[in-house]
Amino acid sequence: MDFALDPTQTALQDSLRRYLESEVAPLVDEYEAAKTPVPRAVVAAMRDYGLIGGLLPEEEGGFGLSMLTYGTLVAEVARVWPSLRGMLSVSNLAASVLAGAGSPALRAKYLPRILEGQAICCFALSEPGIGSDAANVQTRAERTASGGWRINGRKIYITNGPICDLGIVFVRTVSDDGVAGVSCLAFESAMPGFSCTPLGKMGMHCCPLGELLFEDVEVPAENLIGEPGQAFSIAKKYLNIGRSVVAFSALGIAESSLEAAVRFARDRVQFGRPIGSFQLVQQMVADMMTMVETSRLLAHRSADALDRNAPDNTTLCAMAKRHASDAALRVAETALQVHGGAGYTSLFPVERHYRDARHLSIGEGTNQIIGMLIAQSALGLSALR
Ligand SMILES: Cc1cc2nc3c(=O)[nH]c(=O)nc-3n(C[C@H](O)[C@H](O)[C@H](O)COP(=O)(O)OP(=O)(O)OC[C@H]3O[C@@H](n4cnc5c(N)ncnc54)[C@H](O)[C@@H]3O)c2cc1C
Repeated sequence: MDFALDPTQTALQDSLRRYLESEVAPLVDEYEAAKTPVPRAVVAAMRDYGLIGGLLPEEEGGFGLSMLTYGTLVAEVARVWPSLRGMLSVSNLAASVLAGAGSPALRAKYLPRILEGQAICCFALSEPGIGSDAANVQTRAERTASGGWRINGRKIYITNGPICDLGIVFVRTVSDDGVAGVSCLAFESAMPGFSCTPLGKMGMHCCPLGELLFEDVEVPAENLIGEPGQAFSIAKKYLNIGRSVVAFSALGIAESSLEAAVRFARDRVQFGRPIGSFQLVQQMVADMMTMVETSRLLAHRSADALDRNAPDNTTLCAMAKRHASDAALRVAETALQVHGGAGYTSLFPVERHYRDARHLSIGEGTNQIIGMLIAQSALGLSALR
């Protein structure tokens, strides 16, 4: 088995890494401390590296990248600025749903702005009363006299909510009956009746999160994505991609934490020697290195399964997400320990890595829910329904 990236992937990775380190990394500390959203120009610049619409086919204006190439680029962004990674991933997820299942009229209306980096999207599924039980959507949309849809309800913990231009929202339209009654609509944040309240959070301070309120928001008929009642069958494919993306993001944060720990362990002297020469510190470095590598292997396996459309891609994406997100947190925590008191201060990046990694085991399905999906693939028994 050859686990190496090919020369094109390596060249893309190298050029993105050079750009991020010279142009983006110098902004991170100041912006994160001020909790200011990542500047639009920084988001838009990522288009040149395949990070806006990277997975979309070239005929749709995307880059037609494989999941392995795209995931490799995602890990690079997460290594430097997880907030930027979060904004891009969610916006791309919404764009993929629009491109994959939207009508030609809808794609023509919204995709060019998104792909040129002029519009940022959100993906609104979670609600105050429904999280893991996502099929129980309560936000409603009813037909208007003109054939469009009127949306009423609340969505919560929505990445990009406070700054989004466009979004896709999961709404109950057809019936009260589970997933079969849920449809997907595109909306614009400038539409009358839409508002968003920003939410404070533990990390990723430059990737805004919000609670959305829809009060009689009217969208035209063409904003229905797919057929009524199809929202979850459309979303399923993209949720697998989303989980693989989380695995690559976790890998990026874990790599960054490991690099910081190694740097510190070489420099910091106690008892007249670099602390990296002590066996207990070396054990911590060995643990971190192993977790980075197992995360990389599973992230690559999930990408390969998606690229081949392998039958087990759902399980592999779930395993990669669950393992890499848990591992990233442990690596960040261990890196913080290697730093001693310095690790707890904002003078070093590891306390930020720890905070930024923490949400990865919650979003895109909590690791408990994901664990049940994985087990179900072997047992044939569902713990949930
Ligand atoms: C930073 C961040 C960004 C997010 N961005 C988005 C976004 O852009 N769009 C969006 O739609 N959502 C988003 N979310 C929401 C996220 O998807 C949900 O938080 C997640 O699905 C869990 O739902 P919940 O928070 O309601 O937790 P709950 O479902 O209430 O779960 C609470 C706890 O109970 C456990 N639990 C629940 N049911 C079971 C069960 N049957 N068996 C065992 N344990 C169970 C869970 O594992 C968890 O530990 C985001 C969340 C965060 C933190």
